Amino acid sequence: MARINKVLVVGGGTAGWLVACYLARAMRSSDPSGIQVHLVEAENIGLLGVGEATFPSIRGTLAAIGLDERRFLDGAHATYKQGIDYRHWVRPPGVSGRGSFFHPFSLPSQRPGGPELLPYWLLGEAPSGLSFAEAVTMQSRVVEHARAPKRPQDPDYQGPLNHAYHFDAACFARVLAEHGTQTLGVHRHVATVERAELDERGAIARLITTELGPMTADLYVDCTGLRSHLAGGAMQSPFLSRADVLFADRAMAMQVPYDRPDAPIPSYTIATAQEAGWTWDIGLQQRRGVGYVYSSRHTDDARAEQVLRGYLGNAAEGLTPLRIRFETGYRPEHWRHNCVAVGLAGGFVEPLESTGIALVELGAYLLTHALPADLDDLPRIARHYNTMMVARYERIIDFIKLHYCLSQRRDTGFWRDNTAASSIPQTLQDKLALWRYRPPHRLDFVGDLEMFLVASWQYVLYGMEFHTDLTPMRRTYTQAAEARREFATIQQVAARALDDLPDHRALVERMVHEH
Ligand code: FAD
Repeated sequence: MARINKVLVVGGGTAGWLVACYLARAMRSSDPSGIQVHLVEAENIGLLGVGEATFPSIRGTLAAIGLDERRFLDGAHATYKQGIDYRHWVRPPGVSGRGSFFHPFSLPSQRPGGPELLPYWLLGEAPSGLSFAEAVTMQSRVVEHARAPKRPQDPDYQGPLNHAYHFDAACFARVLAEHGTQTLGVHRHVATVERAELDERGAIARLITTELGPMTADLYVDCTGLRSHLAGGAMQSPFLSRADVLFADRAMAMQVPYDRPDAPIPSYTIATAQEAGWTWDIGLQQRRGVGYVYSSRHTDDARAEQVLRGYLGNAAEGLTPLRIRFETGYRPEHWRHNCVAVGLAGGFVEPLESTGIALVELGAYLLTHALPADLDDLPRIARHYNTMMVARYERIIDFIKLHYCLSQRRDTGFWRDNTAASSIPQTLQDKLALWRYRPPHRLDFVGDLEMFLVASWQYVLYGMEFHTDLTPMRRTYTQAAEARREFATIQQVAARALDDLPDHRALVERMVHEH
């Protein structure tokens, strides 16, 4: 039986360092003399440098690798993220009616034995004027009042409200590199991989680097970003484009200073719909990260820059945008022979719900869980890994498309094309048809294959004013009185939470100061 003794991660961005730390931590705790984790990164090839918003799974990942929360906040210039504020997605500005909605990370309130609140909200039992998110969780109210999701005395990565983080991608990679090398025993090498030499079966025999010559391992993890040097290059694993569903393929990003040092920091991403895509606006400790994600089929770079500058106003003066090209899609074979791609090297879904880093986390868990005792098992493990990743990608693509296809915007070609049935996957059309007469239920999903649980689908569906007609089923909903009491309780608890939870900027500064 041939054991895996050495894993070589190629690439030192978020993907490379997260995988290396996760693997090293898991391997050391189970067998300190076990698998060695090495990482090689090129000094002359930069990171992508965007990827600033995360998904709540990041808390479990950072806790699992043993990184102290205060050290992380300080080193990565991080702030808290409690959800996404979608502006002008329902209708364009200037058209009457609600144009925006909030997708909170906290689940709808559900008392044990109490009613599920969604049907009662649909039946009009919630206080009038409250959106679904406002009616079922206090998180919208908390973020509106600039409150944090936790208190300083809460344990690391825990707090009363579900949350993730915003951070500076380059600083995050540095914190992970320090933690990986100083605490977890990851061996770091600085070198550029020029090419891979394959053996007679097509597996990687060795990597040839410019500075250090040949490097070998039992398993190679390709984290070389959009270059996909090993998976797309040496292994020639094909890329499956999904640009027919999600059109955005360009981004233009700027690092924008705050206008004053004590400017409030929103604890949510602001995603504003634009004529050919959307802008992200993320508050970090010392600056904002702002970018325009757009479709080159529906606009050109010069017009995109005007839109981005128009969004920022005076704040954009003197700033030069970073330009990025990408395509939504993935390699159905992330894993071939002894090479597995994690992060952008394996695929990417446009960044609307911040799934990039969450997919890296998933790759790290799957890889750690799947690592075979016997190298001969690699083909079986690869098949399982690929099936799991493909299923996740396809479900994420459906979920992101949901935001576009339900829009009432028809003001530009981008929005008209996005709402055309021909661009909506059949799997998503089937879900929407199902929910015309009953709301989404957790049993509509295979939980382990989903990144977004039923609550997220509900927040986006009803935020986008999807209509579920419950009148034929009205008689089956018999707990209206309990539901009304619960709706009232949520509003009372929200009022108390505003006293209990600290201001967001104040919490971040205190946590950083305490480090
Ligand atoms: P990179 O950051 O590109 O790192 C690649 C690494 O490989 C570098 O260290 C480089 O030096 C090294 N390398 C490359 N070639 C070689 C070689 N030949 N030899 C040695 N080393 C090499 N994700 C989110 O979760 N949230 C977001 O908000 C988000 N926003 C995004 C916005 C845009 C416009 C884009 C395009 C992506 C966004 N993502 C987001 C995705 C996110 O950026 C990535 O998932 C994440 O940064 C991981 O990148 P990576 O490590 O795979 O690649």
